[in-house]
Amino acid sequence: ERVGYALVGLGHLTLEELLPAFGNCKKSKPVALVSGSPEKLHKVARQYGIKPASCYSYADYDKLKDNPEVQVIYIVLPNSMHAEFTIRGAQAGKHILCEKPMANSSAECQAMIDACKKANRKLMVAYRIQYEPYNRYVREQLQKNEYGKPKFVDAFNCQSSANPKHWRHIKALAGGGALPDIGLYCLNTTRFILGEEPTEVFAYTHSDPDNPLFKEVEEVCSWQMKFPSGLIANCATHYNVHDSRQYRVMTERGWYELENAYAYTGQKLTTSHADGPIVRQENVSIAPKNQFTAEIDYFSTCILDDIAPYSTGEEGLQDQRIMEAIYQSAREGKPVKLPRIDKKDAFR
Ligand code: NAD
Repeated sequence: ERVGYALVGLGHLTLEELLPAFGNCKKSKPVALVSGSPEKLHKVARQYGIKPASCYSYADYDKLKDNPEVQVIYIVLPNSMHAEFTIRGAQAGKHILCEKPMANSSAECQAMIDACKKANRKLMVAYRIQYEPYNRYVREQLQKNEYGKPKFVDAFNCQSSANPKHWRHIKALAGGGALPDIGLYCLNTTRFILGEEPTEVFAYTHSDPDNPLFKEVEEVCSWQMKFPSGLIANCATHYNVHDSRQYRVMTERGWYELENAYAYTGQKLTTSHADGPIVRQENVSIAPKNQFTAEIDYFSTCILDDIAPYSTGEEGLQDQRIMEAIYQSAREGKPVKLPRIDKKDAFR
């Protein structure tokens, strides 16, 4: 039995990653598409064997309600549209898989959670890193205190962008700049691997005033997070430098360094630890897995077995609250405290 998905938004992620990833899924299949472009709809539908009757315009979105083949709606739209399409999707009786960032404000995240609860539908935020084997390995090692307690994290996710007209550079559509788009990976992955929630943040942001790319959204954001264990995470994200996507976690007797930590492929893990007087450095090799395939099939398992997904709406809301505190800190030039939240349950 395969769970049927409707994909909403036929942009880069859907066309280049998600639809191909369904090809290797064991529990999931694409059965419907929603797009503003009739030509694109029909071309993509033909390519993936989706019925013409299961192709919808945005205006017809609510008609998904009457399509019994669709169990999940996967929202792959600009960030500002996530809340509305999630809420309407839940009202149409469908489970929701929503791309990151969950929305543009914590109020929107809360409304999405409430709508899915009211409709008794599951809501998962598509944090693909939580399904990526290297990141999961680091998480397991840290949770076992393999090389002693984690003490310090240094994480950054940086790339360059070129098109000021793209929705990612329009604040009303994107919600922010580098932080919600790619900095979010440092934030969510650090929380994920540590299994701990920060209680305080301090941040800087900057935008080159002469660069049209950054008229509305930040070019760079650098922030620190303090955790109840005493660990400090040093994080940064940039929209105007060469690609760089990496973290190092330093523990009492070792470290883990993951290159391409947030990339679709190409993770390279190096560890170092003290073995008595000897320092050992090793490359850890794990069979790679398509993160999108793993994430989509995981959500299907949650639906088939009726279990709550790990990366729920509350997880997306928590990231949004922390990002709001990061922006507040950068604006005010001082640290911002967060409510203390206990460790999450172990990954199911
Ligand atoms: P994209 O610009 O390539 O695609 C967005 C799609 O939305 C386009 O097909 C566009 O036509 C459509 N759209 C509908 N209304 C629009 C409007 N008002 N303005 C602009 N476009 C509109 O973007 P993308 O890279 O596919 O990103 C889509 C979502 O997926 C975003 O939320 C993004 O953060 C997320 N994403 C996640 C990952 C990941 O690794 N998980 C990677 C890339 C993008």
